[in-house]
Amino acid sequence: MTYAAALHSVANCRPRGWPDDLKQEPQEHMAKVFVIANQKGGVGKTTTTVNLAAGLAAQDQRVLLVDLDPQGNASMGSGIDKQALEHSVYQVLVGLASVPQARQKSETGRYDVLPANRELAGAEVELVELDQRERRLKQAIDEVDDEYDFVLIDCPPSLSLLTLNGLCAAHGVIVPMQCEYFALEGLSDLVNTIKQVHTNLNRELKVIGLLRVMFDPRVTLQQQVSAQLESHFGDKVFKTLIPRNVRLAEAPSYGMPGVAFDPSSKGAKAYLDFGAEMIARVRQLG
Ligand code: ATP
Ligand code: MG
Repeated sequence: MTYAAALHSVANCRPRGWPDDLKQEPQEHMAKVFVIANQKGGVGKTTTTVNLAAGLAAQDQRVLLVDLDPQGNASMGSGIDKQALEHSVYQVLVGLASVPQARQKSETGRYDVLPANRELAGAEVELVELDQRERRLKQAIDEVDDEYDFVLIDCPPSLSLLTLNGLCAAHGVIVPMQCEYFALEGLSDLVNTIKQVHTNLNRELKVIGLLRVMFDPRVTLQQQVSAQLESHFGDKVFKTLIPRNVRLAEAPSYGMPGVAFDPSSKGAKAYLDFGAEMIARVRQLG
């Protein structure tokens, strides 16, 4: 099912008692939930999710990383063997396991992971038949959100029902992008999707910011696109710039976030700075 079809059917069949008239219980402590999304492939979503998780953990934040991509790259990059999972996010989404049953510790990153593997591709089809199909992840995260400061959700490169579950569960969207000529292509689709989810499904959802990744200051075009992003989107562009850095690309093959693999590398330092920027943003969000 395409994302558009999913959203259309959801909009035409609003579950009873939701979203306008469901009263939220006041909560003592709730994690801030961020989804890392961009339907373009290979733009640095997983690298950002894994290294932001490790960067926040290094700053004493309690973090749950949710791998919502059947590729399972965030799980592997956190040192978790995706072939050997007893439970995964798939079972959680279809109601066969709880988050506490399925989560694992990333020993290399010092955060928890709700891991994924290819099984998750089947959830796309199975979810369509299920009640509240777009809110399954939110319901699962609600059970554990008092245990974390941050929940970070890594999305697949599509605007699918899985990504929709991520958007419905989140307070904010982080959009990694490369400063290239076609960087903005597709951004309007993503922003329209976020607006529709905001209107129909999740009033809390905001775009927190655009994160410039794989940045090479020696390339004039990248500098120009970066400056244009700043002038066009203002404080919706994160101050932290993530450089292109080979240590970030090497780290996943060791099952480690770059932040842990080589903490002195430029890439690791940038993601630590980004973690600090996110902590400051969350304080502003209240
Ligand atoms: P997909 O859409 O397939 O899920 P993605 O958006 O999650 O991809 P990544 O897997 O994070 O993107 O990154 C794509 C490739 O670029 C990977 O090989 C990764 O190691 C590399 N990469 C990401 N960020 C950087 C960086 N800052 N410096 C160097 N290489 C990077
Ligand atoms: Mg990815």
